Formats: sequence, structure tokens, C-alpha cells
Amino acid sequence: PFDVLVVGGGPAGAAAAIYAARKGIRTGIAAERFGGQVLDTMSIENFISVAHTEGPKLVAHMEQHVAEYGVDVMNLQTASKLIPATQVGGLHEVQLASGASLKARTVILSTGARWRQMNVPGEEAYRNKGVTYCPHCDGPLFKGKRVAVIGGGNSGVEAAIDLAGLVAHVTLIEFDSDLRADAVLQRKLASLPNVKVVTSAMTTEVLGDGKQVTGLSYKDRNHDTLHQVELEGIFVQIGLVPNTEWLTDTVALTMRGEIEVDHRGETSIPGVFAGGDVTTVPFKQIVIAMGEGSKAALAAFDYMIRLAPE
Ligand code: FAD
Repeated sequence: PFDVLVVGGGPAGAAAAIYAARKGIRTGIAAERFGGQVLDTMSIENFISVAHTEGPKLVAHMEQHVAEYGVDVMNLQTASKLIPATQVGGLHEVQLASGASLKARTVILSTGARWRQMNVPGEEAYRNKGVTYCPHCDGPLFKGKRVAVIGGGNSGVEAAIDLAGLVAHVTLIEFDSDLRADAVLQRKLASLPNVKVVTSAMTTEVLGDGKQVTGLSYKDRNHDTLHQVELEGIFVQIGLVPNTEWLTDTVALTMRGEIEVDHRGETSIPGVFAGGDVTTVPFKQIVIAMGEGSKAALAAFDYMIRLAPE
């Protein structure tokens, strides 16, 4: 069995595996796709001490770093079930979709999350060419330009407020007849001169010139009319979905499906830890995921050295 089994190979999982392996304990990492969301990222400008890098390049470095420590890397493996130990200090089991099963004294869950997409024509074609999901990451790329934010929940309104300070103009598009964000955020939004809010609007298409986004179309749901907005960027903020479908009925999850962790990254099950976008820890970013993954590994080690000798 493993001492530490990490499930998920994004920044959180890679950091957890390195921290665990550096303690000289048997460490494994099972990942559906090593690299996670970073593989889908073009330009990264907030990885501290590296002014600019690209997703696939960062993933290659992560992979090399993990490989230096004799971690058992099981890539292209999807976990389908967690069976917690029946007693404290016992072995947890992680079943894989392939039919195999892995046992470990501690487990670190770092299966990340995925952005909910609009699923309209042009969205996929112009991803990273104007369509983006992350204001913290890509906001500065649209300095002085016109953008739309899709979604009027807290994350959409926060993004619009954030972007209004950077870009020339923000159009916030909400499907419902009202914004759903907290009242304080809505008041702040309403005070900004360069934001326009459009409600009862369904985005129908991302428009582009073949290279870059040039606008979007939306349907006014009250009057059934189609409208176009000219702009350079579209921030889709209609939800971040944690990859925890395989964990329902085991660890405690919030209503939104995030794994509840304490300040040490421990879940509701002793010996099972979690880190990164899959947890309740706010602000989903690479450096944060790496920090939280490292913390979960140190907490797992701390847990192990307190167990009765084998
Ligand atoms: P993820 O990166 O989501 O990794 C999850 C891992 O778990 C993957 O290996 C996945 O294959 C695996 N997995 C999922 N389910 C299972 C399962 N059942 N069994 C086994 N493995 C599983 N952040 C920044 O800081 N700067 C940026 O510039 C930036 N740009 C971004 C651009 C894009 C397009 C996107 C999508 C995100 C961006 N982010 C950026 C956010 C950043 O990528 C995430 O915060 C970070 O990757 C989270 O790391 P993680 O390890 O928690 O999860």
C-alpha cells in the first residue's frame, strides 16, 4: 500500500506528491490527465517569480519535478470510488475506472474543477482568443478594451467590478430578470460608470473574425429579439463545478459539491485530505492550489507519524 495516495495531477496534486515524497514515504499519484487545467492554459503571468510562462511548459516542469522523487505516477487513471478505512489508521481504498484498486494509509483528493461553459457556437473556437473563464488570470490582457461578463451571480458581478477598473467598458449579461449577486456587490456595480447590465438576456453566439473575438449575440428573452454587442473579450462566469461526482456519500461536500476542509486540509474522514480547486478554499489559482496541496501533504505526514507502529 501507499503511505500517501494523491488523486488528481494538477498543481495541487503535483505539489502534494512532491511534499510527501520528500518525506521518504511511499507516494503515488493517480490522475485522469496529469497537468489538469494548466494544460488548457495559454499564457500564465501570475506564477510568482516567473513573469511569463505557458500551461504545457509549466506542466512539463511539474512532471519533471515529480519524477525526481520516485513517485509512482499513474496517469490516465480515473478514480471512481473512495472506500474509507473502517477504523482510524486502517487502509483507505481508491477504486479506478479501469477496475484496479489502490490502497493507502492517507489519501489526498485534488481532482480540481471545471468551468461551466455556455455551449453556444463560437465559444470553443475562440477559447483563449477572447473567450476566457478567469478574470484574475486574464483581466490585464484586456486593458483599455471592451468586454462582456456572462453571469450575474456573485462571481459574475465580482468579475465585472474587478474588470471595470482595468478595461474600457463592461457589459454584464444575465439570463434571469434579476442579478443574483449579494446586494452590496450590486450597489457597487451600479455605481460604476463604465458598466452596462443587461438582464433577461440569453447569449446565443460568440462572434469573431477567425482569429479573435469581435462580439457576441444575445436574445432579449422578453421581446424575443436578437442583439449584437461589439467587444474584444468575454468572461464566462456561470459556475465552477468541482470534480467530486465520484465522492458523493463519502467525504462531506458543500451544496455546491466542494470538499469541506479545515485549515490543515483535512476532510470529514480522518486520514483523507484535500487541496486545490476541488475544496472550499476560495480563489481558484495555480499558486493557491500548489500551496494547499503542499499543506495537505504535510498534514497527511503529520497524521501518519501519530499512528500506532505497523
Ligand atoms: P486541476 O488543475 O483541475 O487538476 C485536477 C486533476 O485531477 C487533473 O489531473 C484531472 O485530470 C484530475 N482528475 C479529475 N477527476 C479525476 C478523477 N475522478 N480521478 C483521477 N483524476 C481526476 N490560474 C492561475 O493562477 N493563473 C492563470 O493564468 C490561470 N489561467 C487559467 C486558464 C484556464 C483556461 C483555466 C481553465 C484555468 C486557469 N487558471 C489559472 C486556474 C488554475 O488552472 C487552477 O486554479 C488550477 O489548475 C487548480 O489546480 P488543481 O490541482 O486544484 O486542479
